[in-house]
Amino acid sequence: MDLTENMNSLGTETAFEVLARAEQLMAEGRDIINLGIGQPDFRTPDHVVEAAVKALRDGHHGYTPAQGILPLREAVAEDLHAHHGATVSPANIAIMPGGKPTMFFAILMFGEPGFEIMYPDPGFPIYRSMIEFTGATPVPIALRMENNFAFSADEVLENISDKTRLIIVNSPGNPTGGVTPKEEVDKLVSGLADWPEVAIMSDEIYSRMLYDGLEHVSFLNYPEIRDRLIVLNGWSKTYAMTGWRLGFSVWPDSLIEKVVRLSVNNHSCVNAATQFAGIAALTGTQDAVDAMMMEFDARRRMIVPLLNEIPGFRCLEPGGAFYVFPNIEETGRTGKELQTEMLEVAGVAAVPGNSFGIYGDGFVRFSYANSTEKIREAIQRVGNLF
Ligand code: PLP
Repeated sequence: MDLTENMNSLGTETAFEVLARAEQLMAEGRDIINLGIGQPDFRTPDHVVEAAVKALRDGHHGYTPAQGILPLREAVAEDLHAHHGATVSPANIAIMPGGKPTMFFAILMFGEPGFEIMYPDPGFPIYRSMIEFTGATPVPIALRMENNFAFSADEVLENISDKTRLIIVNSPGNPTGGVTPKEEVDKLVSGLADWPEVAIMSDEIYSRMLYDGLEHVSFLNYPEIRDRLIVLNGWSKTYAMTGWRLGFSVWPDSLIEKVVRLSVNNHSCVNAATQFAGIAALTGTQDAVDAMMMEFDARRRMIVPLLNEIPGFRCLEPGGAFYVFPNIEETGRTGKELQTEMLEVAGVAAVPGNSFGIYGDGFVRFSYANSTEKIREAIQRVGNLF
């Protein structure tokens, strides 16, 4: 069979490969502690599950508008206002089957040979994979440990060229937990005034997952770029709903019809019951979100010092999300070597840093989506390797 050239360029997410190997080892009877996976280890709140069940019982089992049902888009608009002070019309919101389709569609819209798309590195691997799939040139935005894994606005602006079509940013960030300070966002946005043709996609999927009283800086709060801004967000992380496949994005007037058309061509709509669950999640009690974040915070405070006790590990305290990204260069291993040794010898699953980009070399990502007992034991097992 002859396939398109683009298919050779499509990458993947190593976390899923690590998960497959971890499950294989578990099936062989090995005791594996999984700190590799990027999903909360909590259940979707009961009232959200009940809303989906009720929707099905009420007969909501058909197609919905491709853009998503209006009450859900209204609930999203109200939520964005309540949490980030942003004014967004439901007409500019598209409901998506998860967070990923927004990046897929945005990159499809802007990517083609001869043009450049900038993306965070280390960053979510699908950005680069999709950029390469379209034939566009991926231009990494280095996120450095000495900069708390935030982008440097000056560096981003220096790397924009007349071929740049789209800049992708992500804060709080996967895989680092880094949070970009407001001053840096301010500086980037004001510099972008010189590049009015360049679009921005801000991946804000961890916008509700911040620690130490940090406040999320949404790109939605910058009216001067709203006509070229796409914001990706969703329910997966905040409401522990990764498997439901529910996300949303905000699009400018000039793009909303185009993304709805892509949705019609691709998935028609998100399944109806899930959309009703999304309304319940946003409008119901947020107690489960608060409890989850308290728990993540306690784990974060525990895991960072434990990792820093291991010879050769240097780990920052993340400002958001549920990942730590220690530098392990001084252990004398590469990230991949250490990941393999941790999984095969110590029975601890983590993800090598270079699967998130070249600037992730010499790092490993641990997700603290596991119980404190398991995390403590896992880090002890890793320490015993040295
Ligand atoms: N964006 C970032 C930065 C992520 O870390 C993830 C998932 O890990 C996603 C998007 C995708 O989320 P979803 O599972 O809703 O597609």
